[in-house]
Amino acid sequence: MTQNYDIIIFGGGIAGLFIASRLRNAGYNLILVEKDKLGGVQTLASQGMIHGGQKYTLQGNVTAQAASIAAMPARWDACFEGTGDIDLSGVEALSDTQVMFPAGSVLSSLTVFAAAKTVNGKTKKLPHKDFPEILKRGPIYEMQEKVLDIKSLVSSLTEDLQGRTLKGEAEEILPDGQVVIGGQKFQAQAIIFTAGAGNEMALKLLNIKEQHTQRRPLRQIMVKPMPQALYGHGIVGKPKPRVTITSHPDNTGSYIWYLGGNIAEEGAKMTEAEAFSFAKKEMQEIFPDMDWDNKEWASWQGDRAEAFDSAGHLPTGPCIQQRGKILLAWPTKLTFVPALADSVFEWLQKSQIKPSPETTPPSLPAVEIGSYPWEEATWQRL
Ligand SMILES: Cc1cc2nc3c(=O)[nH]c(=O)nc-3n(C[C@H](O)[C@H](O)[C@H](O)COP(=O)(O)OP(=O)(O)OC[C@H]3O[C@@H](n4cnc5c(N)ncnc54)[C@H](O)[C@@H]3O)c2cc1C
Repeated sequence: MTQNYDIIIFGGGIAGLFIASRLRNAGYNLILVEKDKLGGVQTLASQGMIHGGQKYTLQGNVTAQAASIAAMPARWDACFEGTGDIDLSGVEALSDTQVMFPAGSVLSSLTVFAAAKTVNGKTKKLPHKDFPEILKRGPIYEMQEKVLDIKSLVSSLTEDLQGRTLKGEAEEILPDGQVVIGGQKFQAQAIIFTAGAGNEMALKLLNIKEQHTQRRPLRQIMVKPMPQALYGHGIVGKPKPRVTITSHPDNTGSYIWYLGGNIAEEGAKMTEAEAFSFAKKEMQEIFPDMDWDNKEWASWQGDRAEAFDSAGHLPTGPCIQQRGKILLAWPTKLTFVPALADSVFEWLQKSQIKPSPETTPPSLPAVEIGSYPWEEATWQRL
C-alpha cells in the first residue's frame, strides 16, 4: 500500500518544523520525517540569535546580507505576538536584546558601530548606567533583537505537528514524488528536503553530481560557571566578531556561556585542547577583570550546512533548488526561516500544488526532541 500526502518534509530542524507548521495552517496534508531527533543538528547547537543585520556591517558598510536580513526580526516578533505567519506566542526568549561591545581597540570599532545604526534605526547607544554589569568599557550599542530559547521554539512547533512526525529517512526518491521510507512507499504532490547536511544525501539519491552544497566548520566553546548572563558580539573592527556570547541557565543559579564568532571559527582548525587554550586566552584579554582559572570548559564541533549561490558564494539569504516535484531548501541562517517559508509557498503556488480535501491520516507516534550541546558535553577544568 502506498501512503499519500500532499507534502512530505524531510528534516526536523527549524526549517522543516517552521515550514511544516505554516503549510499545516494552509491546510496541506503532510508529514515531517526526521532521521534522528527533532530540533535538528545546527538548530539546537545554534546561538538562537535573531539577527537584524548589524553583525553584517562589521566591515564598516552595509553588505547585501545585512540588507536582506534586516526585515527578519519584525517577522519573528509578529509570530511571538501571535499575529504572524504562525503562532509562536508560547516561545520564550532568553533575552529581548543583544549588545555590541568593544573587544579590542575602541577606535577601530567606531565605524562598525556607525554602520550598525544605518541598518536598524532602533539600535541605540547605551548610557554608562545601563551597561550590562560585566562590561566596563563602551561604546556599547543595544539592538532590539531576541535571543531565543531554542528548545521552547522546537517544542512549540512540534505541538502543531502532533501525529504527523515520523522517525525515518529516505531510502529511494523518484522525481515524480515517490519516496521509500523504512521499506514503505509514500507518494506526495511535493517532497521538501530541509535536512541540513542531509540535503547532500538527497542530491546523491537524485543522482545530481554538481556541487550544490558546502559545509563551514565551527567549534563552539562552552564555559561555566559564569555569574552573569551576556548576549552579544565583541567587536574589534574586523568583518567577524572576535566572540559572540549567549548565556544559558545551568540550574545552579549560574550560567553557561556559549562562545561563537571568531573563537569558534579558529577553534575548528585546532584540537579541542588547543581550542580551549585559545578561547581562555581570548576571554582573559577581553574580560581581564574576570577569574578564568576556576572554570570548566567543553566544546561542540559541527558544520554549518549551506547551499552555494549561482556565483559559488555563500548566499545572502535563504536558498531553494528544485528537481521535478522535489524541493531542496536551506535557510542559510535560523533568522531567515520565515523568508525561506515564503519561497516554499511561492514555489507551491507556481507549481499548482494545492491542499487536497483533508482525509485524516493515521496518527504517528511522537519523535523525541534533541538536547542542547551543553546538556551532553564532557566538561574539563583547565
Ligand atoms: C554553532 C551554530 C550557531 C548558529 N547560530 C545562529 C544564530 O545565532 N542565529 C541564526 O540565525 N543562525 C545561526 N546558525 C545557523 C542556523 O543554526 C542554521 O541555519 C539552521 O539551524 C539550519 O536549520 P535546518 O533546519 O536547515 O538544519 P538542521 O538544524 O541541521 O536540521 C536538519 C535536520 O535534518 C535531519 N536529517 C538529516 N538527514 C536526514 C534524512 N536523510 N532524513 C530525515 N532527516 C534528516 C537532521 O537529523 C536534522 O534534525 C548557527 C549555526 C551553528 C552551527
